Amino acid sequence: MSSWNPTSYDPDDFANRRHIGPSPAEMEAMLSTVGVSSLDELIDQTVPAGLRQDEPLGWEPLTEGAVIDELRRMAARNQVRTSMIGQGYYGTITPPAIQRNILENPAWYTSYTPYQPEISQGRLEALLNFQTMISDLTGLEIANASLLDEATAAAEAMNMAFAAGKRKRSRFFAADDLHPQILSVLATRARPLGMELVIGKAEELEADGLFGAIFSYPGTFGQLRDYTRWCEALHEAGALAIVAADLLALTLLKEPGAMGFDIAVGSAQRFGVPMGFGGPHAAFMACRDALKRTMPGRLVGVSKDSAGNRAYRLALQTREQHIRREKATSNVCTAQALLAVMASFYAVFHGPAGLKAIGQRVHLMAVTLAEQLRAGGAIVEPDEFFDTITVQVGVGQAGIIAAAEQRGINLRRVGRDRVGISVDETTTLETLARVLDAFGIEPAQELSQDPAIPDSLLRTSEYLTHPVFHMNRAESEMMRYMRRLSDRDLALDRAMIPLGSCTMKLNAAVEMMPITWPEFAGLHPFAPAAQAEGYQELAADLETLLCEITGYDAFSMQPNSGAQGEYAGLQAIAAYHRANDDDRSICLIPTSAHGTNPASATMAGMKVVAVKSADNGDIDLDDFAAKAEGAGDQLAAVMVTYPSTHGVFEDTIRKVCDITHAHGGQVYIDGANMNALVGLVRPGDLGGDVSHVNLHKTFAIPHGGGGPGMGPIGVKEHLRAHLPGDPSSGEEGAVSAAPLGSASILPISWAYLRLMGGQGLTQATRVAILSANYLASRLSEAYPVLYQGKGGRVAHECIVDTRIFAKHGVTVDDIAKRLIDHGFHAPTMSFPVAGTLMVEPTESETLAELDRFVAAMLDIAREADEVASGRVAANESPLRRAPHTVEDLVADWDRPYSREQGCFPPGAFRIDKYWPPVGRVDNAYGDRHLVCSCPPWEPATE
Ligand SMILES: *Cc1c(COP(=O)(O)O)cnc(C)c1O
Repeated sequence: MSSWNPTSYDPDDFANRRHIGPSPAEMEAMLSTVGVSSLDELIDQTVPAGLRQDEPLGWEPLTEGAVIDELRRMAARNQVRTSMIGQGYYGTITPPAIQRNILENPAWYTSYTPYQPEISQGRLEALLNFQTMISDLTGLEIANASLLDEATAAAEAMNMAFAAGKRKRSRFFAADDLHPQILSVLATRARPLGMELVIGKAEELEADGLFGAIFSYPGTFGQLRDYTRWCEALHEAGALAIVAADLLALTLLKEPGAMGFDIAVGSAQRFGVPMGFGGPHAAFMACRDALKRTMPGRLVGVSKDSAGNRAYRLALQTREQHIRREKATSNVCTAQALLAVMASFYAVFHGPAGLKAIGQRVHLMAVTLAEQLRAGGAIVEPDEFFDTITVQVGVGQAGIIAAAEQRGINLRRVGRDRVGISVDETTTLETLARVLDAFGIEPAQELSQDPAIPDSLLRTSEYLTHPVFHMNRAESEMMRYMRRLSDRDLALDRAMIPLGSCTMKLNAAVEMMPITWPEFAGLHPFAPAAQAEGYQELAADLETLLCEITGYDAFSMQPNSGAQGEYAGLQAIAAYHRANDDDRSICLIPTSAHGTNPASATMAGMKVVAVKSADNGDIDLDDFAAKAEGAGDQLAAVMVTYPSTHGVFEDTIRKVCDITHAHGGQVYIDGANMNALVGLVRPGDLGGDVSHVNLHKTFAIPHGGGGPGMGPIGVKEHLRAHLPGDPSSGEEGAVSAAPLGSASILPISWAYLRLMGGQGLTQATRVAILSANYLASRLSEAYPVLYQGKGGRVAHECIVDTRIFAKHGVTVDDIAKRLIDHGFHAPTMSFPVAGTLMVEPTESETLAELDRFVAAMLDIAREADEVASGRVAANESPLRRAPHTVEDLVADWDRPYSREQGCFPPGAFRIDKYWPPVGRVDNAYGDRHLVCSCPPWEPATE
């Protein structure tokens, strides 16, 4: 018998066979191009030896099957009950067509924020549908494309009102029947900005001297009010009126715009997005036209392309942190795009008549419940309500709640003697029978037909009149609409997205699977803790792993984006100084920092002082030391990104931390670049006191076209006591609406960490560094590569200097748009250096894909050379005419280059060619003629 010759291929090795792109042979080739003999050698040249962690990451990898088994085991520790707790979170039915074709479809979930409009027309249209829906339902002129959650949206609105009042007044009123988590986040956000938050009964509003006020519609206990006279009083006093409104209620109720509100915020969760133990869901904000320039978050607008055809793009970009830095209106960067898309499709799917029918059914179900409770002798409040009632139960409270729980139902504990009950889309007469049984009351036989909404509050205006909400709603048609839109976009399911600082790595199918399991998706964030043991276990294990990776002592999962993490971290620092009776407020931030850093520092009440970059891109240590010295005992914090946003492992990082600490300041290390560190360097060991990590960058949560994300923060022991507090307390301290932020996407990162194992994660970091250095080597044939470390190497990303062509008229925009013809998403543009491209390949791309990208970039350099040498005029070059559409191809061709060269440059696939649906989009035109809701319908010719 011949002996076996076992192959070295291990089919269960997820890290090396599935997650990491280059095969061992491909890595050999890459190492030789880079000019080193081994990966070890490259890492030694790249990562300063003195900074390396002593111990390797310990844990063993699990197979895909084992990870699913473990997740099933933890999921089984979560108990899915019928939660009628309300308080901003409601049962909802996700139409299966939306779950499968959007939420579970990589064409939707792996796309990036639509900064490059030509390759983003599909999701931009879906987001414009969202804005139109929000604007219609709230009755306000302009709506944005989502915010992080309802509570933070309310805080953003408070900020807008503060700015509108020119910050001359500092008093803000919040009605005491807002959801507690809204009050909690408002309190946290008000203090550092020097606002005085007054919480009181809506009826007792004193408008004089306020810059704004916020009310709840309906109230958290069900109350309905017509706020028209409140709005009038506020306007007379020169203040803005804000409402936190329930979207489903607005299908039946008089809209906020008709009452005089200036701003409406809320959550679109109950439009088909599962509760997910708190998130992610899309919060919304709508406002009057006059306030649009101060509105936070992204705004999709309509413009035209190079051929004069309609095209969508993000509007009013100049409002954002990247440009306005510490003067930005808000730090919101990643928001909730994917969830906004889901909610918009829920509205397209049901149309206005369907939404109204759902609203009516929910309302009548609540009426039926109230009637039956009253018939059984219970005292039910209020008389007029939409979906929520409270019942006086006196000393029987605990008994009623326990009896309901035994019947599979969670009720809300209100004070010591009441329970709250909210009805939702999933409630049936059978559900009501179980609730009534818990009260010992007979079930209702049929649905009541007597609404409990006063006539004066009934909505009389139309909504969702646009044809997109009146399509034929056969599932065939819906499915094709979703498919058509996603086909217009370029996501990771088609090509690499080499965006520096964004880490667009593989989001593996196995990691995504658990998020739609009912045991993760179906939990209410304020359900009894005993029902969420699986979540607690998952979060605790994730915390342990993240602590091991980062060198911190504790983590908070509450921040639901990177920028929220920055804010939470700086709040922890501020609270720490306060606790030490230390009055410090200066925050040093290098000029190269991400725009969210200065914006977050300002929100945390700190005064931002910029630190210069030296010529080599590093922090200018002399300038830093001088500014730290100058701040002296006023130095609160330093915010640095490591490795730097220039893609370099600076060996001065320890010195920066030491100087900061010597002055009594705290060090915030922005962990967005953790993909260069995991397994090699721990920010906690470098001297960091707190960091956020972006789970949607380094830890495999997909970008979703601009969210969801998660930005948990890790802290050293001394800051543990200052981590975000419990939002349901209503007390100052919370930064997001739910205790674990967007809890239902935590299983993705958990699965990633467990599948990879400690060694696999470390290898991923090493290969990410190899891939970046490979690109740097190959691209340096044609472009200068800016900034290297002492060993002549870049970290996990590199900056490609395209300014060499700028003086000949070829702009960085031309290069970005030309990449579309090659079938690529452009790298990060003009950050951190204006006029350059920052490329981050990640570890997940194969050598073939890297080479396809190199071929495209080299061919673009060749085309740019033709312009530079004067052979081709810049505005006649394929670079300037890019991207090329099918319309261009079939139209009369009067260009000095061939159709072949224009449409099929090297690297572009022929059979699988990506055709952008529009030519180059005119941004300035769109901002001059701002349209942010669906334009008139043109019958689909596509
Ligand atoms: C992405 C990023 C952030 C912000 O993260 P969001 O989740 O978008 O809020 C902060 N800093 C750096 C360096 C980043 O790359």
